[in-house]
Amino acid sequence: MKVLVINAGSSSLKYQLYDMKDESVLAKGRVERIGTESAIVTHEPKDKPGVREVSEILDHVTAVRRVLDLLQHREHGVVGSIAEIEAVGHRVVHGGETFKESVLVDDEVKRSIRDLFDLAPLHNPAALTGINAVEQNMPDVPQAVVFDTAFHQTMPRHAYLYPIPMALYRRHRIRRYGFHGTSHFYVSRRAAELIGRPIEELKMVTCHIGNGSSCAAILGGQSVDTSMGLTPLEGLMMGTRSGDIDPAVVPFVMSKEELTLGEVNSMLNKHSGLLAISGSSGDMREIIEAMEEGDRNAKLAFDMFCYRLRKYVGAYAAAMNGLDAIVFTAGIGENSPHVRKAVCEGLSFLGVKLDEAANFDAAKEARFISAPDSRVKVLVVPTNEELIIARDTYRLVTERKRAGETAAALES
Ligand code: ADP
Repeated sequence: MKVLVINAGSSSLKYQLYDMKDESVLAKGRVERIGTESAIVTHEPKDKPGVREVSEILDHVTAVRRVLDLLQHREHGVVGSIAEIEAVGHRVVHGGETFKESVLVDDEVKRSIRDLFDLAPLHNPAALTGINAVEQNMPDVPQAVVFDTAFHQTMPRHAYLYPIPMALYRRHRIRRYGFHGTSHFYVSRRAAELIGRPIEELKMVTCHIGNGSSCAAILGGQSVDTSMGLTPLEGLMMGTRSGDIDPAVVPFVMSKEELTLGEVNSMLNKHSGLLAISGSSGDMREIIEAMEEGDRNAKLAFDMFCYRLRKYVGAYAAAMNGLDAIVFTAGIGENSPHVRKAVCEGLSFLGVKLDEAANFDAAKEARFISAPDSRVKVLVVPTNEELIIARDTYRLVTERKRAGETAAALES
């Protein structure tokens, strides 16, 4: 079965086409600047010449149509006909408390995603637009949705509630949800495979650190705490997001600087984090380059980033009463030995000991970077959220097909 994975943003759409026979990626690409006369389409088929074109694409329906055209294109295509694509899976950021796992799309599911617009005003509407755009182009193809929040729905109440009036939770569902769930799920499973022990026995902290960053406490394979909250602003220091601060800073700054709600929101999401402290960049690679050239503000940004992550690892070891493994993933986690070293150096009291050479080895595959005698294993695992979306979609569609066949057999 071939499964198309879609990640729709408000003006972009990323895609990967999987052949589930061997879980290989047949093609991937993206459409950017949807809604303009100069939308950019980048299409990378396996073993064939790629495409980069600029054209007018005014909505997601047209974007999906262009992607489907390219997937079956004579020169750049990877399928004989679109009919070969038997299922489509979408990434949806917020599943609220409604979705604890991935599901097949129907009208009820679409209504529920719409009901969650308040919780993810930028992301959920875009995902729904993507679902509708696929439906218009491929009306008979089943679609599934995979939520960034779903994996964290196993958190206990004492971890997900905020100590604020309970009426706010009851009325508005204000609580910790957490994000990057598919990534934390995937890397924790991969890490358990490499460690060679059942995940049910393991206590792990998974660190997804990229432009957006979060870590999670994974106890026996289940998420029991995570650093992002109601929104992806809470928790770790990020490229341009503040992460944890005293919430009283918000009214204080609003009054002192005469900022509006929108302005303070933008300050915390777009003008904070590494960017604010370094004064030059929110990109970790640039921070490290500047730091190595002697830039003291970049060094401070780097130190704060690693210090705050290290505190979370310690807190989660306490939350789980122990720690067997730390897993690093995403842009910074996979590629920055400097950050991994700085985080782990302060964790020797927990039994963390890095293998210096393994940490600085630029290998791309999942691997150990801890010393053989390190009590806590440290691993780098490249994340693969699209693969999880493809697998969930494939499973749901196959299950439904089987259920349909069983029902038909019983009737006949
Ligand atoms: P997103 O959250 O947008 O998916 P990514 O997971 O791609 O982000 O991570 C982007 C971050 O990874 C940037 O801060 C980038 O500088 C950082 N990064 C990528 N490669 C390296 C590297 N070799 N060393 C340090 N940081 C890196």
